[in-house]
Amino acid sequence: MSNPIVVVENFTINELMCKCGCKRFNYSREFLITLQNFRYSIRVPLIVTSGCRCVAHNKKTGGKSTSCHECETKQASAIDITCQDMGKAFALAEKQECFNEIIWYTKSNFIHLGIDKKQGSSIYSEKINL
Ligand SMILES: [Zn+2]
Repeated sequence: MSNPIVVVENFTINELMCKCGCKRFNYSREFLITLQNFRYSIRVPLIVTSGCRCVAHNKKTGGKSTSCHECETKQASAIDITCQDMGKAFALAEKQECFNEIIWYTKSNFIHLGIDKKQGSSIYSEKINL
């Protein structure tokens, strides 16, 4: 039996799948629900700049081998998004404490939102000038 695909209201599989062309889609159900809840709270469109990634694409984009974007050896639990009000998105993510990786790359203009189980309950939040 294959796992049923979880579909959430504001994100399509096309937006979330690996962008290398392999079309791999393997996200943790918990992560997608958390992401959708975040989208309901913020009430502005979130544009996906990087969703889940196969091992090769993750390496190519400079992701660490342990990246929560990687979806070939495990279910992905991270996304990079951009929107019209990045300050609001960052502040809301910090306030909600639903993701435990919140990294705002201010020059590249995207925010990484992730749930890394290995990190336990501690929240890593940072604004990086990259
Ligand atoms: Zn791929």
